[in-house]
Amino acid sequence: MELSEKLSGAAGAELMRLFEHGTTPVFFCDNSGVITFFNEPGREILGRAPDAADRWITKETLYTPGGEPVPVNQHPLARAIAGNKAGPAEEYIIRSADGQARCVLIHTALLKAGSTVTGGYYTLTDITAYKDTTQHSILSAIVESSEDAIVSKNLQGYINSWNKGAEKVFGYSEQEALGKHITMLIPPHLQAEEETIISSIRSGRKIDHFQTRRLHKNGHEIDISLTVSPVKDKFGNITGASKVARDITERIVGEQLRAKNAERILQLNAIGKTLSQSLDVHEILQQVTDLSTSVTGAKFGAFFYNKTDDKGESYMLFTLSGAPREAFEKFGMPRNTAVFHPTFSGQGVIRVDDITQDERYGKNDPHFGMPAGHLPVVSYLAVPVISSSGAVIGGLFFGHPEAGVFKEEHEDLVIGIASQAAIAIDNSKLFEEVRALSLKKDEFIAMATHELKTPLTSMTGYLQMLQLKIADPTQRQFVDKAMNQVRKLNAMITDLFDISKIQAGKLQLNYTTFEFFAFLNEIVESLRTSGMQHEVRVIEHPEFTIQADKLRLEQVISNLLTNAAKYSPDLQPIEVSIALNEDLTVHVRDRGLGMELEHMDNIFNQFYRIETVPRNISGLGLGLFISKEIVERHHGSIWVQSVKGEGSVFSFRIPLAPEQTK
Ligand code: ADP
Repeated sequence: MELSEKLSGAAGAELMRLFEHGTTPVFFCDNSGVITFFNEPGREILGRAPDAADRWITKETLYTPGGEPVPVNQHPLARAIAGNKAGPAEEYIIRSADGQARCVLIHTALLKAGSTVTGGYYTLTDITAYKDTTQHSILSAIVESSEDAIVSKNLQGYINSWNKGAEKVFGYSEQEALGKHITMLIPPHLQAEEETIISSIRSGRKIDHFQTRRLHKNGHEIDISLTVSPVKDKFGNITGASKVARDITERIVGEQLRAKNAERILQLNAIGKTLSQSLDVHEILQQVTDLSTSVTGAKFGAFFYNKTDDKGESYMLFTLSGAPREAFEKFGMPRNTAVFHPTFSGQGVIRVDDITQDERYGKNDPHFGMPAGHLPVVSYLAVPVISSSGAVIGGLFFGHPEAGVFKEEHEDLVIGIASQAAIAIDNSKLFEEVRALSLKKDEFIAMATHELKTPLTSMTGYLQMLQLKIADPTQRQFVDKAMNQVRKLNAMITDLFDISKIQAGKLQLNYTTFEFFAFLNEIVESLRTSGMQHEVRVIEHPEFTIQADKLRLEQVISNLLTNAAKYSPDLQPIEVSIALNEDLTVHVRDRGLGMELEHMDNIFNQFYRIETVPRNISGLGLGLFISKEIVERHHGSIWVQSVKGEGSVFSFRIPLAPEQTK
């Protein structure tokens, strides 16, 4: 095909010559895209000669800058011919037969015969080199503006690039770092890491977000997160490594702080729990002193009460941790000086890195500071312990022979402990007060019962004399009634007396051996003669002997029988039965008031009476408590089964002899 056929006229012939001999690839096409002419540079860029099947040359050759294949009808020349208008230059990627990709600009032009379009041509301008440099400068700009350190090194470990971020993270300028060995950044104890990194890189493996430490120019270690990737040349050979290092010191410090706070909360919780388990002030304070000495890392710790001695000079040492008591006492207690006084007057916490340098220190004679041989206190921490009422109970003091040991976190921790200790001390004081009151009450009951018994005894004597002397039946009835009331009063006072004995732990048992069935009948008989109106049926049983405290056992049985009568206001009959196996069990059944389930355990408690019991049935709520105590002292047990409105069965079981329980 002759060029002159394509472009007519002298100018056309000149242009065709230029295409033929020029360096710009050019392709001529007819309206259907068949290649009608191409020049040598065109063949070169394709890596082949276009063939008959190539329309516009798109298939497996032309791609958009985004890498998408360009469809036949979308070729810029196809569009220009379809639109009868050549468009501006467009960027494409052309892939040659050997697979090499190049960035090109495609310029189109139309060929016309008169106003009829007969075809067109396009030229390719190779802009690959330009694009590479632009890409490179964009990448360089990214690297330079990065906050992260981006460093590359060769396989021998020598640094060959160093960005601004690296200057910031490691402190070295680019000039200082280039050509240096990477190990200058690795702390001595981590030097072995470099070997591992290099061998990973050699085998083409990337190291992702590896958390480690590196050396700053100023000698300090910094926490970094490191990503190392192999660097390859254009033939794919690994020639070195690029390192991206992020300074994560702040993150690590934050994490450490969070972990520390969590640990502190746990410690405080544990301390709170320990403290709440004790009501003994001495124990509480010893624990507080030990725990806080240990959490502060103090060499010695002490709690001093906010009380001074007779002369108003020295504070009272209460508990000590980390040093023998003599170590303190030998030199006298801390004195009411400018150093100690503020803690006790509620002026807050004192934390000093070196107390010997403090202006409050060393002002008092005779020692003007610590006496010779005193525990060597340099770091000093003092925290007041303040009760809920605002009063300063005392102070926690900590010492260490080295300077600057106590930090803000220790101060916070001890403040936390001190406030928990104050609550524990307040509680224990309340407990002590209640205990003291309760002791007073017990003393009073013991004294009152004794005082009450004396006039009652003489009243009983006089009434008995009257019973013998008075013949008139009406008068006799009055005296009998008075006697009955005195007996009741006497029983109540005896109960109170027993209570005070039980509380003092002085309820003694006198074991004797006796026949039980006869003994049981005697009790029933004596209750009858003293006026019990209820019918009491004792179920027959063969005689047997038992070893027990006879008087105390009588007290239990009498109490159960009296209750059965007392709480059966309609004079319903009472039944007593016994069961004998290894133990003796006694059942006292009544058909009286009965009770609901909720009362069945409580009625054996001191002073417990069921509220719904009619008011005219008197009592102190002590009989069952005393019975329970007596039965348990005999190594037995007592219980009740009852239905409200139907009656109750009170039962107790005791061994036949005390040694059976051994
Ligand atoms: P007191 O009889 O002096 O009140 P007790 O300790 O003997 O004291 O009894 C405690 C409470 O148990 C009584 O107040 C009464 O409410 C209840 N109780 C005891 N025995 C019986 C019983 N047999 N039937 C019903 N309630 C009883």
